[in-house]
Amino acid sequence: MPITLSKSVHQVIREVGEVGQYLWQKGWAEKNAGNLSVDITDHIAITPAKLKKFPVKPIAGLLPEFAGRSYLVTGTGTRYRDIQNHSSECLCVLQISGDAKGFHLFWGGKREGFKPTSELPSHLLMQNSLRKSGAKEKVVLHTHPNELIALTHLSETAGEEKLNYALWSMIPEAKIYVPRGIGWVPYRLTASQELAKETVKALERKHKVVMWEKHGVLAVGKDAIEAFDLIDAMNKAAILYLLCKQTGQTPQGLSREQIDEIGRMFAPKD
Ligand SMILES: [Zn+2]
Repeated sequence: MPITLSKSVHQVIREVGEVGQYLWQKGWAEKNAGNLSVDITDHIAITPAKLKKFPVKPIAGLLPEFAGRSYLVTGTGTRYRDIQNHSSECLCVLQISGDAKGFHLFWGGKREGFKPTSELPSHLLMQNSLRKSGAKEKVVLHTHPNELIALTHLSETAGEEKLNYALWSMIPEAKIYVPRGIGWVPYRLTASQELAKETVKALERKHKVVMWEKHGVLAVGKDAIEAFDLIDAMNKAAILYLLCKQTGQTPQGLSREQIDEIGRMFAPKD
């Protein structure tokens, strides 16, 4: 028996589809790269009796506090570019079971052999970190923005301090939109627990954008559009930096004093 989702969840799905198109158009979502989760617990009302009709699929290592939480997540092997026109094949809605040993998948996943993203345990760790800190962010988005990744390969811009200075120095909005800068996670194996744990530490330091060295970016936002915008703003700064370098010169950049002045004028309120 199909479950009818609320208007608010359909709106979330529409936004995710829209962002999927942006990521594809930007060239940040080759093949099935990237994944996304949204905590939609506040928008889901499903009775235990109905939920029971959807068998529990096991998932290891969850803390009891996950029980009953509901998430919209991308599927393993699905493409960001397909979400807008095939949302129920590329996405699913799941609720963690009462004993937190598995999840009920009760919407979407309409594809042969569908499974939620293989990064689900990592997403849940990050979602839990956001929730425990009282953050307003509900969306965790991972993608591969070209120019930002390129900067992690250059010794002059690799590392948190050097990367943020290079980006902030390119255009005032980089400091205004991402005032705490991008959190830096040194290279870790894709989909590893180490990568997830280092990312959680960066989120705990209140970074909303986290760079995975030589891999990609993870951003959080109140909605998918906000998470995308933060990455887009910082990737624009990365493009400017590389454009300047292509002339064979080193960009002048805003001075540290000018960046600090922007920081004081536009200090984050949270
Ligand atoms: Zn990736």
